[in-house]
Amino acid sequence: MSTYAWIGLGNMGGPMTANLVAAGHQVRGYDLDEGACAAAAEGGVQISGSIAGAMEHADAVFTMLPKGAHVHSVYEGEAGIWANATKDMLLLDSSTVDIETSRYIHAGSAQRGLHFVDAPVSGGISGAAAGTLAFMLGGEPELMDRASGFIAPMSGKTIVAGGPGMGIAAKICNNMMLFIDLMASAEGSQLAEALGLDPEVFWQIASVSSGRSWAQQTWYPVPGIIDTAAANNNFEATFRTDLARKDVGLALDAGESTGVRLPAATLAREHFDELIEQGLGDKDCSLIVKNLLPDGAV
Ligand code: NAD
Repeated sequence: MSTYAWIGLGNMGGPMTANLVAAGHQVRGYDLDEGACAAAAEGGVQISGSIAGAMEHADAVFTMLPKGAHVHSVYEGEAGIWANATKDMLLLDSSTVDIETSRYIHAGSAQRGLHFVDAPVSGGISGAAAGTLAFMLGGEPELMDRASGFIAPMSGKTIVAGGPGMGIAAKICNNMMLFIDLMASAEGSQLAEALGLDPEVFWQIASVSSGRSWAQQTWYPVPGIIDTAAANNNFEATFRTDLARKDVGLALDAGESTGVRLPAATLAREHFDELIEQGLGDKDCSLIVKNLLPDGAV
């Protein structure tokens, strides 16, 4: 049995920690949101009132936070992770953050003699609940076996992407592909319906044809096709639009810094910006389907 500290018990952190508890581990959690804490407590997480409290006797310290700024804020300062970590703890960040934040946390940890691995995930809240997330790891080779061991109860597949920051680099590229695929599913589904195809029949055809993708299989933005898709739940977020916008923005920033042109990602960002401007940033990102229709209805 291992002891985990877990900072960030939201849509992903909640079910991920429930799987750790179910596998017999002790999890001490910390989150600013009372609702998130209450839900995690139901899953067996022991809630702490501080980061230091959550880190007491921890073997592994995970962060699962919205953005790079949140990761900075929980690592830095007297009440933060760096100030309370010991050399025998393994620090892992599973949030999707910018390359610079990941490099900064790697460098700051190494300077203090602490061990850090970037360990972002893919698979959505359904993968988090099922314990089948794909983890992509970046860090020093000697840390990878230990990291994989802590991750095992939450993961269907763990792949070492490379050295420090390479996990998050893989994640940013992967999510850029996901959101471009989501645009394809949104546009294909609406055009199919407008041309008179039965939505279920078209989805079946795409599922065995070259239009198939993870987004098409999991997030298809038409009600009545996939039970767990947000389209069946008034587009309540399984993946918030503002977080999707953040992820595409991370890819575009990386494109700019490397000189790689990303026209499809640029278009995806426009779709998400439209929703955010309409005050729908907290709704599911598959709601991009809304702005494809002449009357903006879904
Ligand atoms: P979320 O907003 O549901 O959860 C984040 C949690 O962090 C919230 O409960 C919030 O209260 C907490 N938090 C914020 N600042 C904090 C602080 N300073 N101290 C303690 N807690 C703090 O987000 P999520 O959907 O769980 O996503 C988390 C990360 O995982 C994001 O980076 C996201 O891009 C990534 N991700 C999400 C999905 C998905 O499908 N939702 C899939 C893969 C990766």
